[in-house]
Amino acid sequence: MARLAQTAGLTDVQQEILSTVRDFVDKEIIPVATGLEHRDEYPQAIVDGLKELGLFGLMIPEEYGGLGESLLTYALCVEEIARGWMSVSGIINTHFIVAYMLKQHGTREQKDHFLPRMAAGDVRGAFSMSEPGLGSDVSAITSKAVKDGDEYVLNGQKMWLTNGGTSSLVAVLVRSDEGHPEGTAPHKSMTTFLIEKEPGFGEVRPGLTIPGKIDKMGYKGVDTTELIMDGLRVPADRVLGGVTGRGFYQMMDGVEVGRVNVAARGCGVAQRAFELGVRYAQQRHTFGKPIAQHQAIQFKLAEMATKVEAAHAMMVNAARKKDSGERNDLEAGMAKYLASEYCKEVVEDAFRIHGGYGFSKEYEIERLYREAPMLLIGEGTAEIQKMIIGRRLLEEYRFQG
Ligand SMILES: Cc1cc2nc3c(=O)[nH]c(=O)nc-3n(C[C@H](O)[C@H](O)[C@H](O)COP(=O)(O)OP(=O)(O)OC[C@H]3O[C@@H](n4cnc5c(N)ncnc54)[C@H](O)[C@@H]3O)c2cc1C
Repeated sequence: MARLAQTAGLTDVQQEILSTVRDFVDKEIIPVATGLEHRDEYPQAIVDGLKELGLFGLMIPEEYGGLGESLLTYALCVEEIARGWMSVSGIINTHFIVAYMLKQHGTREQKDHFLPRMAAGDVRGAFSMSEPGLGSDVSAITSKAVKDGDEYVLNGQKMWLTNGGTSSLVAVLVRSDEGHPEGTAPHKSMTTFLIEKEPGFGEVRPGLTIPGKIDKMGYKGVDTTELIMDGLRVPADRVLGGVTGRGFYQMMDGVEVGRVNVAARGCGVAQRAFELGVRYAQQRHTFGKPIAQHQAIQFKLAEMATKVEAAHAMMVNAARKKDSGERNDLEAGMAKYLASEYCKEVVEDAFRIHGGYGFSKEYEIERLYREAPMLLIGEGTAEIQKMIIGRRLLEEYRFQG
């Protein structure tokens, strides 16, 4: 798409990266995405291509073998990739969050150990907060770590791990409230453990089981799993940052950049839906003219394009704010909320433009229609975003009466 979702002020390097990714998406992802998705098949060839492009190390610092790029570059790449197939952006996203958490919070030894292999895409990351009984309410986590000599023993069940099967490193948030210096308030009694495992399903490490793929309505191809810890022994040096009790804050930091990423996905999926809608509207004739010539359809296209532009602008703003070193929870929450809601609406409009054919699996919009709802839930639901936005607004606009 030439006209919509342009970003002013990019460097030559950013433009080159984006044009390479766009080319890859057009040639290697779009032609095969719907077929793979319908078969729920892992896109190994695409993942190999992304590895070659260096995308798994896009934001990892150059000293660890990555490209050391900004959150903005990363988000714009994700937008392009999601335009091709949202599941592929899901394969990168949890990896990116874990690499980001390591970069921000890891010990020197942890960075040296993981980041070079993560930059190469040889170690791939998953991150795990949710449990069967909770998603939004992270403070209610029940999985537990208990210290035993130089190790911790972990027990509990986790839910909804994107890349749970294909990853070899999982950042897991558990309760660890035995007398650490930070106290035992819910948010200060959690620890992130870096758990290495074999990719695959079944018992992937003594005490650690990945039961199998969860069957989903969309977002197929990428594996989403449970994770069961039953007496899992993890060395103390695999506590992220080396100190217990900081896990909640580390994970929230990761989720904050993850929210920009989900906003970028919403932008990419909405752009693709617009492309499909505007193309179909010029091909399909009713009452003697292309449906694009009916004002009702033109209005739909106008609304769709406006939403694509607005979501893109907010996503770029949120990424730039984080890159400038400022707190961006308000902007990231707003961008994630708006982009995911608009994405759902743009996809639905493109679906309506397709008439009955939108319901057929032969048309790409059918896949997008099943993918968009995931964005309303992942990295915090709309209600959770509104809670974050509302709280921040009350801080900023505190009544001084
Ligand atoms: C495909 C997929 C992949 C995922 N990948 C991961 C992953 O990689 N790692 C991971 O940790 N998690 C992952 N998740 C989990 C996801 O983050 C949670 O599903 C999400 O946070 C919502 O939690 P929940 O499903 O438990 O819903 P709940 O928290 O039970 O919420 C149910 C409903 O109640 C609303 N609600 C909850 N609390 C409030 C409140 N205080 N006020 C108003 N409304 C409220 C919610 O908005 C929602 O509408 C994934 C989920 C899916 C579907």
